[in-house]
Amino acid sequence: MARIALGIPRPRAADPALADLPDTADRPASPALVDRFGRAATDLRLSLTDFCNLRCTYCMPAEGLEFLPKGQLLAAEELVRLVRVGVEQLGVRQVRLTGGEPLTRPDLPEIIAGIAALEPRPDISLTTNAIGLDARAEGLRAAGLDRINVSLDTVVPETFTAMARRPLLHRVLAGIEGARAAGLTPIKVNAVLLPGVNGHELPELLEWCLRRDLQLRVIEQMPLDAGHTWERGAMVTADDVHEMLAPLVRLTPVDEPREGAPAELFEVHDRATGRYRGRMGIIASVTRPFCGDCRRTRLTAEGSVRTCLFSRGETDLRAALRGGASDHELAEIWRAAHWGKAAGHGMDRPDFVQPTRPMSAIGG
Ligand code: SAM
Ligand code: SF4
Repeated sequence: MARIALGIPRPRAADPALADLPDTADRPASPALVDRFGRAATDLRLSLTDFCNLRCTYCMPAEGLEFLPKGQLLAAEELVRLVRVGVEQLGVRQVRLTGGEPLTRPDLPEIIAGIAALEPRPDISLTTNAIGLDARAEGLRAAGLDRINVSLDTVVPETFTAMARRPLLHRVLAGIEGARAAGLTPIKVNAVLLPGVNGHELPELLEWCLRRDLQLRVIEQMPLDAGHTWERGAMVTADDVHEMLAPLVRLTPVDEPREGAPAELFEVHDRATGRYRGRMGIIASVTRPFCGDCRRTRLTAEGSVRTCLFSRGETDLRAALRGGASDHELAEIWRAAHWGKAAGHGMDRPDFVQPTRPMSAIGG
């Protein structure tokens, strides 16, 4: 790639990552995070840590993963500053806190409160495994958290222990109830289905969620596991989900604009009685990609911009931040990075290469 052009500042800290910024000579003079394919990113996925207290097989290795030392993670005030740049200068309107496990950061309320104080105030959501959420939900809500998504792949304790490699289902369930009691509703439940592991449990999981007024969202497994064991032919697809649920429920697409949301939403009616039960979503990133309407930008826990989960490169904002760059300079670097966003994740291309970082280290 060519070196940066058009008023993008030279960073004051020496940073080889910035040498790979795309050529912005043909970029229009827009303040937004636009790319060459006419998209503008308004939704920031902010990873707070690469550390996690679970070891889900589709995300992390059983052991041996080295976590970032504390000094390499962005501190609360650094995170809030970058979000401020996103909100005030780049048009970011939604911030989803993720990781690794964001609840493992003791300063989470401070981070949320800092983001909630920004103008215009962005929508703030959290994706979490919910371990320890029962003790913290009230404080997070008071700090300004608007919504949560809880990852829960199964309600069968043995399956949970096999998938998360920790016997902690009861703590996740307590976390969900704590969030409900604190008024952090509606709660969405994210589930990744693995064939032969929890795939066949889908009807049970859906029924469990519907009874508790939780919106289940089934996510197709993506090639982001640390072991690089993902196989396109051996995954539970959106079509499989429809086929599995068809005898039990009728799924009717929700007639609302999707607006870049990854989930396709459905109204759920009992097949036998016709009774309305609630909604569910399917995130078919692999078999029905939604890249053409992508509105996401990502920051890793060490402060690198990733324009896509599947990016092969990153742009290190932390070096510029710690090297004394102004907000304007940080915004310009971020804009330049986004101009190079790829058209799509390319999972269907023969030359597709899985990112070296697992999901936990990118921020889901
Ligand atoms: N620890 C938190 C959690 O589990 O919700 C936040 C981080 S986690 C990486 C964010 C989301 O990514 C979770 O819903 C998880 O199920 C999903 N995820 C992780 N690895 C995945 C993969 N290989 N394919 C699809 N989704 C994945
Ligand atoms: Fe941890 Fe979330 Fe990855 Fe599971 S999916 S290992 S809870 S980061």
